[in-house]
Amino acid sequence: MRMAVKVKNVMEDIVIGRMGSIMEKSGCCMCDQCQSDVAAYVLSKIKPKYVSTVSGELYSKSIQLDTNVENEMVFQIAEAVQIVMQKPRH
Ligand SMILES: [Zn+2]
Repeated sequence: MRMAVKVKNVMEDIVIGRMGSIMEKSGCCMCDQCQSDVAAYVLSKIKPKYVSTVSGELYSKSIQLDTNVENEMVFQIAEAVQIVMQKPRH
Protein backbone atom coordinates (compact mmCIF):
# COMPACT_ATOMS: atom_id res chain seq x y z
CA MET A 1 0.00 0.00 0.00
CA ARG A 2 1.25 3.46 -0.90
CA MET A 3 1.50 6.04 1.85
CA ALA A 4 -0.30 9.14 0.77
CA VAL A 5 0.96 12.47 1.98
CA LYS A 6 -1.96 14.78 2.45
CA VAL A 7 -1.05 18.40 2.67
CA LYS A 8 -3.13 21.33 1.64
CA ASN A 9 -2.49 25.04 1.41
CA VAL A 10 -5.67 26.41 2.95
CA MET A 11 -4.87 29.86 1.53
CA GLU A 12 -5.98 28.46 -1.85
CA ASP A 13 -9.61 28.20 -0.76
CA ILE A 14 -9.45 31.48 1.14
CA VAL A 15 -7.99 33.44 -1.80
CA ILE A 16 -10.42 31.85 -4.27
CA GLY A 17 -13.29 32.66 -1.92
CA ARG A 18 -12.26 36.31 -1.61
CA MET A 19 -11.03 37.26 -5.06
CA GLY A 20 -14.35 36.96 -6.90
CA SER A 21 -15.95 40.09 -5.48
CA ILE A 22 -12.71 42.08 -5.89
CA MET A 23 -12.42 41.00 -9.54
CA GLU A 24 -16.06 41.89 -10.18
CA LYS A 25 -15.75 45.30 -8.53
CA SER A 26 -12.69 46.05 -10.68
CA GLY A 27 -14.53 45.02 -13.85
CA CYS A 28 -12.10 42.16 -14.41
CA CYS A 29 -12.91 39.31 -16.80
CA MET A 30 -14.26 36.35 -14.80
CA CYS A 31 -13.29 33.53 -17.18
CA ASP A 32 -11.53 30.43 -15.82
CA GLN A 33 -8.17 31.55 -17.21
CA CYS A 34 -8.29 35.00 -15.62
CA GLN A 35 -9.52 33.67 -12.28
CA SER A 36 -6.77 31.04 -12.30
CA ASP A 37 -4.15 33.65 -13.18
CA VAL A 38 -5.23 35.91 -10.30
CA ALA A 39 -5.21 32.98 -7.86
CA ALA A 40 -1.77 31.79 -9.04
CA TYR A 41 -0.29 35.28 -8.74
CA VAL A 42 -1.66 35.86 -5.24
CA LEU A 43 -0.73 32.40 -3.97
CA SER A 44 2.84 32.88 -5.22
CA LYS A 45 3.14 36.17 -3.33
CA ILE A 46 1.56 35.44 0.04
CA LYS A 47 2.74 33.07 2.70
CA PRO A 48 1.11 29.65 2.35
CA LYS A 49 -0.68 28.05 5.27
CA TYR A 50 -0.40 24.29 5.07
CA VAL A 51 -2.40 21.79 7.01
CA SER A 52 -1.56 18.11 7.09
CA THR A 53 -4.97 16.64 7.26
CA VAL A 54 -7.49 15.08 4.93
CA SER A 55 -10.04 17.42 6.46
CA GLY A 56 -8.09 20.43 5.20
CA GLU A 57 -11.07 21.51 3.12
CA LEU A 58 -13.24 21.79 6.21
CA TYR A 59 -10.52 23.54 8.16
CA SER A 60 -10.12 26.30 5.57
CA LYS A 61 -13.79 27.25 5.94
CA SER A 62 -13.50 27.90 9.65
CA ILE A 63 -10.09 29.57 9.64
CA GLN A 64 -9.76 33.10 10.97
CA LEU A 65 -6.94 35.10 9.41
CA ASP A 66 -4.84 37.68 11.25
CA THR A 67 -5.80 41.19 10.17
CA ASN A 68 -2.41 41.82 8.61
CA VAL A 69 -2.52 38.51 6.71
CA GLU A 70 -6.00 39.42 5.51
CA ASN A 71 -4.88 42.90 4.44
CA GLU A 72 -1.85 41.54 2.63
CA MET A 73 -4.03 39.04 0.79
CA VAL A 74 -6.54 41.69 -0.31
CA PHE A 75 -3.67 43.94 -1.42
CA GLN A 76 -2.13 41.16 -3.50
CA ILE A 77 -5.50 40.25 -5.02
CA ALA A 78 -6.02 43.88 -6.09
CA GLU A 79 -2.53 43.95 -7.63
CA ALA A 80 -3.06 40.61 -9.40
CA VAL A 81 -6.37 41.85 -10.85
CA GLN A 82 -4.61 44.90 -12.32
CA ILE A 83 -1.91 42.73 -13.89
CA VAL A 84 -4.41 40.25 -15.34
CA MET A 85 -6.61 43.06 -16.69
CA GLN A 86 -3.62 44.62 -18.44
CA LYS A 87 -2.48 41.36 -20.00
CA PRO A 88 -5.32 38.86 -20.11
CA ARG A 89 -4.28 35.41 -21.35
CA HIS A 90 -7.75 34.22 -22.39
ZN1 LIG B 1 -10.61 36.15 -19.07
